[in-house]
Amino acid sequence: MKRVICSPGSYLQGQGELSRLAEYYQTLGRQGAYLIVSRSAYAVWKDRIDGGFRSAGIPYEVHLFGGECCQSEIDKHLRQIGNRDVVLGVGGGKVLDTAKAAAHFARKPVIIAPTIASTDAPCSRVAVLYTEQGAFSHYLSLSSNPNMVVVDTLAVAQAPVRFLMAGVGDALATCYEAEAAARSGAVTMAGGCSTRAALALAQLCRDTLLRYGRQAKADAERGTVTDAVENVVESNTYLSGVGFESGGLAAAHAIHNGLTVLGETHKLLHGEKVAFGTLVQLVLERRDAEDILKIITFCRDCGLPTTLEELGLAHAGDERLMQAASASCAPEETMGNMPFPVTPEDVLSAMKRADQIAQLAGMLKRG
Ligand SMILES: [Zn+2]
Repeated sequence: MKRVICSPGSYLQGQGELSRLAEYYQTLGRQGAYLIVSRSAYAVWKDRIDGGFRSAGIPYEVHLFGGECCQSEIDKHLRQIGNRDVVLGVGGGKVLDTAKAAAHFARKPVIIAPTIASTDAPCSRVAVLYTEQGAFSHYLSLSSNPNMVVVDTLAVAQAPVRFLMAGVGDALATCYEAEAAARSGAVTMAGGCSTRAALALAQLCRDTLLRYGRQAKADAERGTVTDAVENVVESNTYLSGVGFESGGLAAAHAIHNGLTVLGETHKLLHGEKVAFGTLVQLVLERRDAEDILKIITFCRDCGLPTTLEELGLAHAGDERLMQAASASCAPEETMGNMPFPVTPEDVLSAMKRADQIAQLAGMLKRG
């Protein structure tokens, strides 16, 4: 089986990068830029975004995001895009996916500029499409990864810290899932077996988070960009982005997807549910209690949910938890990338075991 790794053409990260988008545009296009920007990002960062294009004298249009990454929103942009030769997406996950999808259908290059670091999706060549009502529709496989991903760490640090920490939850899973997928020889989203490179990035991602995650939380709470914040943003966005796409997903994301069948979890962010999925995966792997406790303590310090109660599932009962466990083992789920067979019964008991250890960790901390 061939080994495959893919990544964005380039990745840039630093304070104030939103004001340099025009500069980056010029490396890809000449006819003018087509920007899709979230309302909230534009409200805060309008001067930086517009200022760069104005001072460089580059034609550009800003189109505010309609609120959902759905086919009708993508079609609207395709009708308006005309001879603008590069698409830029600025904002959160759905805006970025809309920009990726519009560029894909229009066969134009795309620059992705996340203003939060809550998931590892920006670097990938996948867009998640929803219905107009906001229900999951399908994954759209794109012809390539974004040409450029540009992260303004000043914007990320000034967004609510919960987003950054959810990104830590999403990124912490990457290494454990990539290791499992490598052991089972799974085919990743990149279309081949894992590479030593992807695995190394995933491991660096975990080590960086464990080392700098707590400090990054404290710094971002003050809205300041420090080395810790930069390191965590790079881990959440790039290391985890390449790590998951080319390293492979496994139990943690399958359990996340399973949890979404329970309405109580809908108020949680993606990475918050993935964090619990990681704990369950560690139990399924029969890791030492000490190792699991270390990860639980880290998650707790980052404000990530570690117990069923924190997921809103204190009173869910076995029958409903079993629905989530069964959904996580559906044939299309990445549970099949684990190096051993996993049944819904295994998942249910691992969920309860993870919850018990986390409750114990909470009592130790209080005691
Ligand atoms: Zn994820």
